[in-house]
Amino acid sequence: MAQGIVEQFLSLKCDSDADLLAMQCGDFYEFFADDAERVSEELDLTVSTKSSHGSSYPMAGVPLSELTPYLKALVERGYSVAVAEQFEDDGEFVRKITRTVTPGTLIETSDSDAQYLAAVVRPTRRSARRRSTTGPNDGDGVDEPHGLAFADITTGQFHVCEVDTAAAAHAELYRFDPVELLAGPEIRTDDAFVSTLRERTAASLTLFDTEAFAPGRARHAVGEQFGAETLDSIGLDSELAIRAAGAILAFVDDTGVGVRQSMTRLQPYTADDHLTLDATTQRNLELVETMYGDREGSLVSVLDHTETSPGSRLLREWVTRPRRDRVELDRRLDCLEALASAALARQRLRETLDGAADLERLASRVASGSAGAGELLSVRDTLALLPAVADEIEESELAGSPLHDVVDDVDRAAAAALCETLDSALAADPPKTVTQGGLFSRGYDDDLDDLIDQHEAALSWIDGLADRLKREHGLSHVSVSRNKTDGYYIQVGRSQADAVPDSFSHVKTLKNSKRFVTDALAEREREILRLEDRRGDLEYRLFEALREDVAAESALLQDVGRALAELDVFCALAHHTAGANWCRPELVAPGTLDIEAGRHPVVEQTTEFVPNDLRLDPDRGFLLVTGPNMSGKSTYMRQAALITLLAQIGCFVPARSATIGVVDGIYTRVGALDELAQGRSTFMVEMQELSNILHSATDESLVILDEVGRGTATYDGISIAWAATEYIHNEIGCHCLFATHYHELTALADHLDRVGNVHVAVAGEDAAESDDEDITFLRTVEEGPTDRSYGIHVADLAGVPSPVVDRARNVLDKLRDEKAIEAKNSGGREPTQAVFDLASGSFRQTPTDSDQTAVDGSTARAESHSVNGSRSVRGLDDETRDVLRAIQSIDLGETPPVEVLSTVHEWQQRLAESDLAGDEAEDADVSEP
Ligand code: ADP
Repeated sequence: MAQGIVEQFLSLKCDSDADLLAMQCGDFYEFFADDAERVSEELDLTVSTKSSHGSSYPMAGVPLSELTPYLKALVERGYSVAVAEQFEDDGEFVRKITRTVTPGTLIETSDSDAQYLAAVVRPTRRSARRRSTTGPNDGDGVDEPHGLAFADITTGQFHVCEVDTAAAAHAELYRFDPVELLAGPEIRTDDAFVSTLRERTAASLTLFDTEAFAPGRARHAVGEQFGAETLDSIGLDSELAIRAAGAILAFVDDTGVGVRQSMTRLQPYTADDHLTLDATTQRNLELVETMYGDREGSLVSVLDHTETSPGSRLLREWVTRPRRDRVELDRRLDCLEALASAALARQRLRETLDGAADLERLASRVASGSAGAGELLSVRDTLALLPAVADEIEESELAGSPLHDVVDDVDRAAAAALCETLDSALAADPPKTVTQGGLFSRGYDDDLDDLIDQHEAALSWIDGLADRLKREHGLSHVSVSRNKTDGYYIQVGRSQADAVPDSFSHVKTLKNSKRFVTDALAEREREILRLEDRRGDLEYRLFEALREDVAAESALLQDVGRALAELDVFCALAHHTAGANWCRPELVAPGTLDIEAGRHPVVEQTTEFVPNDLRLDPDRGFLLVTGPNMSGKSTYMRQAALITLLAQIGCFVPARSATIGVVDGIYTRVGALDELAQGRSTFMVEMQELSNILHSATDESLVILDEVGRGTATYDGISIAWAATEYIHNEIGCHCLFATHYHELTALADHLDRVGNVHVAVAGEDAAESDDEDITFLRTVEEGPTDRSYGIHVADLAGVPSPVVDRARNVLDKLRDEKAIEAKNSGGREPTQAVFDLASGSFRQTPTDSDQTAVDGSTARAESHSVNGSRSVRGLDDETRDVLRAIQSIDLGETPPVEVLSTVHEWQQRLAESDLAGDEAEDADVSEP
């Protein structure tokens, strides 16, 4: 038998694609061989040994009732686990895999967050070639369309879309934050798309049957699930999206989780429905977690005063998927406004909602057949809240507000009917198991009532037995009980144990008593066991039928759940906005952003916040924001982005007043701390982000740039920042806030019509010219550029040692006055004569030998940059100068490429004989101490 078990295990394991297999053996689920080792490492299970065919195998097991927490822990670590159950067949135990649990198909989750399973596909090679006009497919799909599907099997949510590029696909994946991703066959696991994803989400990547992604099969699966006519009626014509959706359905089927019934609706969306928030922006704005990965300190954490898990999930969905539809946004704002000014009614509503269970999740558990009677009672109780909530709205100052429609849009009659069915069906306090009876109230089913009558009659015969025995046989110390080993028995005290009638047969002797049975008692016992079996079977069948009836109402449960969740979100937002004194924004057409006394929604929680105004309009849509480090530039800009975003989730905003032109996207580029840790060059990342913004933003977008070009040398950086400003201003024409430390850029305001300057003020700016004055950040934003840098004060505040701070002040003075500075030697020796010359941007040997310094920028490279005086600075020899002149004068447009090549070769030979060659040799020596 033991050998058979391990063999069965190994053969089932071969048939399964899962990482691990848990196989039922009696009252345990066992893992064998490598799986046992793996599970014990992950979960600290004890490993024992099982012998089979002369070999020993590691074995680790968990009791049947404890499988769920172990499954959860394993899938959270990214494993898929197949579960094989044991059946009896002709007296033999056989085992069959009934389910495979993966991160995206864990129905048992107790986490309140959404649990999305995603699929992503690209055009197949053939169609990619047909579509592509820009050359062969590069394999990483950067500019290719992507089809995406997101299904949360625990709630029945099912969204699909098609996007144009890999970056847009990343943005969606980041929004939904799936736990598991099925990649289509065109996507290699090593391509750049997948590596970027791995850096940004924790989704585990699953390779799944290529066939499931095939267009025909996927379309069939989607049609079968949602109705063949659905695709037309909901206007879903994207083959890519359908392929992704089809793959998800096939995968869910394959795992055997059985939740198809609760997947009631396919919800296609397009990029136009929502505000575009690329992956970087979602992170930069710290919507659901901070840059450091903490929930605390995110926008959601500030807003989340919800009472229920579905409310919290919906809030997160709103925050990550802001809208552009003004009608919907105004509806939400109307609801919020009603609640914000009705504190008492709001409080009552919140108290009522507090009792709501997670109906979406319950619907899925009901559909998967894992819900027990207690869960159906939760369904009943939550459905029963609907009329209570409706009354609270109608009977308060909320009456007449569109909150009414939130409740009225669901089929209240159907909800009431289902609630009534469950109420009349289920017993008040049913047991946890569904196979032992006791689930139903009387009156639900005639046959069951009949059985219950017989059962109760038999039980009451037993209940009365002790009294009858006392009366008939004069026994005073007698009782009738039941236990697992002896069944029903009569227990008689030791003093009377020998005086029992002959009809009593002795079963057991205890210290102070003896146990007996009688024929009549044994007969009743058999009857009771028979009735219990019949009752258990009948109730189980009735329960399954009832659960199926409820599963058939999945869509209703989801609607009611959604309505209650929405009320919960409105109450939470109203609670926060009333307490924090936020105002209702006025939503207008794109082109205006007018914020009076705005604040940062998160920073104001912990800081005495200084409010600031911001006005952008068609005449002045681009602001250069300057000011000392730490003065509040980033905060000011993020605040603008967050206020816009809040308005577009339909929420009030932290400001005295706000008029907000609805934007189509928010794009940000801000200092990327963590990219450094990932070993990607910050400058490369900075430029990729800039590139994405310049490609994607439209004239209806809001762009926030914080210090572009900082990751490279000054002149490169300023040139890029300058050119980007011109491009955004001239070509894109969107609203833009651009914080920069390049003062040179502020001059752009004189040349570009729509560019203006603002700066964050510090106290006593004129007086601050005196270097030893402590500066005070006022945090107020004022017109015009800032006139100086306060970096040294910040260095001082940050605790940089005072000799360094003092010397820096001294250097700054000199640079200001003389545009040149001497390098200082250590140990009190004479200062060296090397001088940094601001005019040329290079060192010169003495303040007076300017005639020997760089001739112009292009020749500066050829100079020695040594500052220790060991080498002389030279001009250039004649040969080198001649080559440079030749380079300058060549007309590239007129010269054939072959000629250019031979000319360059000639120059190289001439330079090889010049001083430049000697320089390189000397440069190599300079590094020597
Ligand atoms: P900068 O971008 O200019 O370096 P930050 O925006 O990072 O400065 O702000 C520096 C600090 O000042 C942060 O701790 C921030 O919380 C605080 N701060 C910024 N603006 C305000 C304000 N308006 N009121 C109060 N504190 C602010």
